[in-house]
Amino acid sequence: MDKYAIDSHKLIFHPERVAQWSEAGNDWEKLKKVYPLYVEISPYGGCNHRCTFCALDYMGYEKIAQEEQALRNALDEMASGGVRSVMFAGEGEPLLFNPLASIVEHCSRIGIDTSITTNFVPCNTKSIETFVRHCSWIKVSFNAGTPERYAQIHQTKEDDFHRVVENLRYAVKLKREKGYTCTLGAQMLLLPENRDSAVALARLCAEIGLDYLVIKPYSQHLFSETHLYEQINYDEFMDLEAELAECNTDRFNVVFRANTMRKYTEKQHAYKKCLSTPFFWGYIASNGDVYGCSAYLGKEEFCYGNINETGFQDIWEGEKRRLSYEYVQNGLDINGCRVNCRMDEINRYLWRLKNPQAHDNFI
Ligand code: SF4
Repeated sequence: MDKYAIDSHKLIFHPERVAQWSEAGNDWEKLKKVYPLYVEISPYGGCNHRCTFCALDYMGYEKIAQEEQALRNALDEMASGGVRSVMFAGEGEPLLFNPLASIVEHCSRIGIDTSITTNFVPCNTKSIETFVRHCSWIKVSFNAGTPERYAQIHQTKEDDFHRVVENLRYAVKLKREKGYTCTLGAQMLLLPENRDSAVALARLCAEIGLDYLVIKPYSQHLFSETHLYEQINYDEFMDLEAELAECNTDRFNVVFRANTMRKYTEKQHAYKKCLSTPFFWGYIASNGDVYGCSAYLGKEEFCYGNINETGFQDIWEGEKRRLSYEYVQNGLDINGCRVNCRMDEINRYLWRLKNPQAHDNFI
């Protein structure tokens, strides 16, 4: 029931980009031309919530905003280079960045697919309309099925729960009335505190008219200040999958990320090197810094330059990215990387490609 391959990966649908990378071998002049398919952008560093599990708490929720014109210029160069999609999310709440609606419109014009991961509190009917019209998907971080539990986990007021429900209802109404194709979903990060309200949340999401609810596991970030959930054991949560499946309808699915939960318990990597970084994805922090991996924000080895000072093409094809490539290949010990990082499934796939096994030719 995972129509959008949320619990696996979609790099297999971009064979040309993979071939470009594979054929480049170790030739940096060719490798530097491999642009990411997908970039995460943090429009704003501040946040109106303080979720108990927040992986980026160490970034400090500083109220830093992207410089709008520099971001537009970077997006133009990204589109020319081959970037196909952008997710606005990041260190803070993306909807607190006022020009986001017009940036999303801009992406539509230049051929970049957009999505937003948000708590969906700071928006209004006008901005919701723009987002639903232009985005491929919106995923709302919605971590409990009752206002009390929601307020406890998001560390906010109960009113915000009702506001999110209201905003989602409006988004669904617009989508249906105007025939927009935006996929509207919610996501709950499964914790001991919200386990008992997962079914209530699934029922609520189905009733609102959302397309899906993702239930995903926690993953300890390397630099997070919080270690509250580091020892969580998802074996104890697996029976929830069948219970939640009963909420599925013709139009609504619960995507229970059992595959990822099992991998979290494994606590080891299925590959020896990271092959996805610095190629198939990227990250732009709210201060304009371009990173090759979102798990290493603030780390010089993964920072290639700043879009407020340098064009995206020069950053992406520049010396700092070359040095980072060498570091990832020869210096980085991935045992120190975040388990189940965003590129985990992609790394498994690329590692398998680079390390053929017996019988692979018997297609
Ligand atoms: S966290 Fe993941 S994507 Fe980042 S460098 Fe490590 S293995 Fe690669």
